[in-house]
Amino acid sequence: MGNGESLAEKSALFPTYAKHPITLVRGEGSRLWDDQGKLYLDFMSGLAVCNLGHVPAKVKRRIQEQLDQLWHVSNLFRIPNQEKLAKLLVANSCADLVFFCNSGAEANEAAIKCARRYHQRVLGNSRYEIITFEKSFHGRTLATLTATGQDKVKDGYYPLPQGFAYAAYNDIRSVKDNITDRTAAVMLELVQGEGGVNLADPEFVTRLSALCQEHGLLLIVDEVQTGLGRTGKLFAYEHFGIEPDIVTLAKGLASGFPIGAMLGKNKLRDAFSTGSHASTFGGAPLAAAAGVATLETLTEERLPERAEQAGAYAMQKLSERLLPYSIVQSVRGIGLLIGIACSEPVAPIVTELHRRGLLVLPGGTHVIRFMPNLYVTNEEIDEAVDLLSSVLASSNRA
Ligand SMILES: *Cc1c(COP(=O)(O)O)cnc(C)c1O
Repeated sequence: MGNGESLAEKSALFPTYAKHPITLVRGEGSRLWDDQGKLYLDFMSGLAVCNLGHVPAKVKRRIQEQLDQLWHVSNLFRIPNQEKLAKLLVANSCADLVFFCNSGAEANEAAIKCARRYHQRVLGNSRYEIITFEKSFHGRTLATLTATGQDKVKDGYYPLPQGFAYAAYNDIRSVKDNITDRTAAVMLELVQGEGGVNLADPEFVTRLSALCQEHGLLLIVDEVQTGLGRTGKLFAYEHFGIEPDIVTLAKGLASGFPIGAMLGKNKLRDAFSTGSHASTFGGAPLAAAAGVATLETLTEERLPERAEQAGAYAMQKLSERLLPYSIVQSVRGIGLLIGIACSEPVAPIVTELHRRGLLVLPGGTHVIRFMPNLYVTNEEIDEAVDLLSSVLASSNRA
């Protein structure tokens, strides 16, 4: 017991997840152990959350210190680590202000609300529509699933909130065609993670940023997955030489402790004035302590640079070893957010890799995502590439 189907049959959980029959009980760095004592190499990092690896010492220490002092007081009081985390985020980004919440969906929900309120209360117009992109992913609340450019997340949830339009990714013409006198903002991921590791074209991003300025639209960049060092910069937007008006964060911000954040430019201050938005748990002492320790580690140890180097090594190895297999169509990525696009659904390959002790994640149906932590070593990358290569070889797909 404790593993496999017997547990699934008796579960009192809503069956919202197709759970792997693995029960992980301990983690350290890139390694995880299950309840049978089996060892895994983790190249999914809890969905790009554990960017510092599992149970990073400094974050653990800060959470333990905070655990001894105080857990929760509400946002009606000043929370020192919340102020500190906001200052750190502002010092290391193009933003001036931060709102804390608890997840990526909530951060995007805040961005959508902030954009609408900026137009309606600060600029005094009636714009509300947000242009998002096909194959995007922005979360599972009603507004953020509506923002998401994938039908499967919308099934059965109608009627959906109004105020979204969808453009083709990397197609500036399509964005232009969607701009009307209702348009308030454009929201995008610079790498579509859930959508299959689709990279934004630099030329497209430059033109999009200019287009937003020209039409008075806010540019919202969803960095819930790309943020916090994953792409080889602290924020993915730094690769593109743009300054978004709003940046959303969550996954990697507190090493596994739930937190979300919406970062914004100073001009948005009055859009989110006192009383206009709130979250009971947002930026509470434990989450803020974990966030401060995470961000300090990322910047002090220059982990984005490590991600860039490790990512370059992984891209080269993966291309060299995997492109010869006919099932592999492309290896693409930036930093340590890498996708291996295949000509067949990858679910059986992912399952076989789990059996052999490598944890990876699909992106869409046909892409295997490689997202190790930012401390990953070249030896660990070699090990993962060997395992993937052997699975592709043994399934006779050479
Ligand atoms: C995961 C993800 C979200 C949703 O985050 P949750 O914390 O699950 O609500 C939003 N946007 C992107 C790009 C994501 O990868």
